[in-house]
Amino acid sequence: MRYGFISDIHGNLEALTAILDDLQDRELDEIVCLGDIVGYGPDPNACVELVQTRARYVVLGNHDSAAIGKTTLEHFNLYARQAIEWTREVMNSDAYAYLSSLPLKIIIDAMTLVHATLQHPEEWNYLFNTQDAVENFKQLRTQMGYIGHSHVPVAFCKENQRHWTVWDQHISIYPNIRYIINVGSVGQPRDADPRACYGIYDSEKAEFNIVRVPYEIKKVQEKMQKAGLPGYLIHRLFSGR
Ligand code: ZN
Repeated sequence: MRYGFISDIHGNLEALTAILDDLQDRELDEIVCLGDIVGYGPDPNACVELVQTRARYVVLGNHDSAAIGKTTLEHFNLYARQAIEWTREVMNSDAYAYLSSLPLKIIIDAMTLVHATLQHPEEWNYLFNTQDAVENFKQLRTQMGYIGHSHVPVAFCKENQRHWTVWDQHISIYPNIRYIINVGSVGQPRDADPRACYGIYDSEKAEFNIVRVPYEIKKVQEKMQKAGLPGYLIHRLFSGR
């Protein structure tokens, strides 16, 4: 099986479309979405509709949860909060109903899917480093965990009592090692590479790869400007920070 992993789309339709086109060419078996379809970007409804039609497995992200009023805005910074308030105003009832139906965690085959962390996915904490990963591995009941949330692609690995972190675009999957893999962000990368990011897991080849796809950043920025979304969110798309 070959799975395409998309996460943190954040209402960026141009980035999502570019990635879905790239995925189509590769003829993958399933598309998995790790949450945050909305928030920050100018096209929440179109992004929800596309994910709903294209992705087989989808979990809820913190921005999705905030957009439907399930998570309060107190832990959001000012810009994120303004974008969520805007998203709430423009979101249609179909998108609202779909986001409301999403689970926090899905287990398929050897994979656990969550947006934030494995131990408390509903608390929206971050998994940034090897130390954070130690606690998360205790809650991982499958060989692999797939996450988003930080917008930075990275893989945390564990073999017996040894933990380490891999920043490569290519990761070999060995049967005796367990993995928690962050697949990066489609619509708002923060690893200094502004191109849209997604991941592919190939179970036959036993490998995971990060893929980068350029898209029309300027077009999204113009839409954000028109929508009156915060300038900080508009500019950061160019730097990928
Ligand atoms: Zn996000």
